[in-house]
Amino acid sequence: MQLLEGKKAAIFGVANDRSIAWAISEALHGAGAELAFTYAGEVLEKRVRPLAEGIGAHIILPCDVTKDEDIEKVFATLKQEWGGLDILVHAIAFANKEDLSQAYVRTNREGFHLAMDVSAYSLVALARHAVPLMEGRNGSILTMTYMGSEKVIPNYNVMGVAKAALEASVRYLAYDLGPQGVRVNAISAGPIRTLAAAGISGFKDMLHHVSERAPLKRNIDAEEVGKTALFLCSDLGSAITGEVMHVDAGYNIMGM
Ligand code: NAP
Repeated sequence: MQLLEGKKAAIFGVANDRSIAWAISEALHGAGAELAFTYAGEVLEKRVRPLAEGIGAHIILPCDVTKDEDIEKVFATLKQEWGGLDILVHAIAFANKEDLSQAYVRTNREGFHLAMDVSAYSLVALARHAVPLMEGRNGSILTMTYMGSEKVIPNYNVMGVAKAALEASVRYLAYDLGPQGVRVNAISAGPIRTLAAAGISGFKDMLHHVSERAPLKRNIDAEEVGKTALFLCSDLGSAITGEVMHVDAGYNIMGM
């Protein structure tokens, strides 16, 4: 029997086949899970639908996480189609481009709210809707974060602040939902070339810096995040909750 046989997983955050959410999807699907996908807008549907259908998914829905009505529709459909949910993957983040290049001190109220809403609050909203569907199923919720929450990474700026809120949310959600058997964890991944990463000024330098200084002397790939996601979302991680697990070739342990 496969690790995730009979399990249902909802994936938020696939933009294309380079998305971390896609690598996670492949790992979960490879372990036997049935997947549902959401996409943020019409343009993305063209990219997400063929990928999703290629691995047999039939629930593929629009969801802008800043819209409560979109979120409600997704979970109503999941309830109707599946009757329950075992795994929720949240791999979503957004900040205005200028907020990822100018000095952090210049972040305006609107840019701050937007980054927090899409990148941090959305986990809380999705978790709240997912939990009733996870009743009696030992559910698992997973989000994606980055070390810019803990240390200053030039240009990461407001996204670092949003990731700090996201990681704190992981702990508070783990505490809230633990009594219902639902686990909540985050993977803190090293830099990977994706659409979102392309928005961060100096991203190439980040890759170079990590490959020189990380204990493993290399960068990571999305497949390695997928394998860790499988571990955390399956019974292999049954006693792990509230954790932020680094998948970064060890970069975060370095002081000098
Ligand atoms: P990605 O492929 O661009 O995925 C980001 C996803 O967020 C996209 O599907 C994007 O859709 C979605 N999104 C943005 N605003 C949204 C909204 N309002 N509603 C719904 N979805 C929205 O990039 P990625 O690198 O795989 O990012 C996935 C997660 O991993 C993010 O949380 C990111 O911070 C995190 N992460 C990335 C790295 C890295 O180096 N790549 C490292 C550590 C952590 P649109 O394209 O339509 O905006």
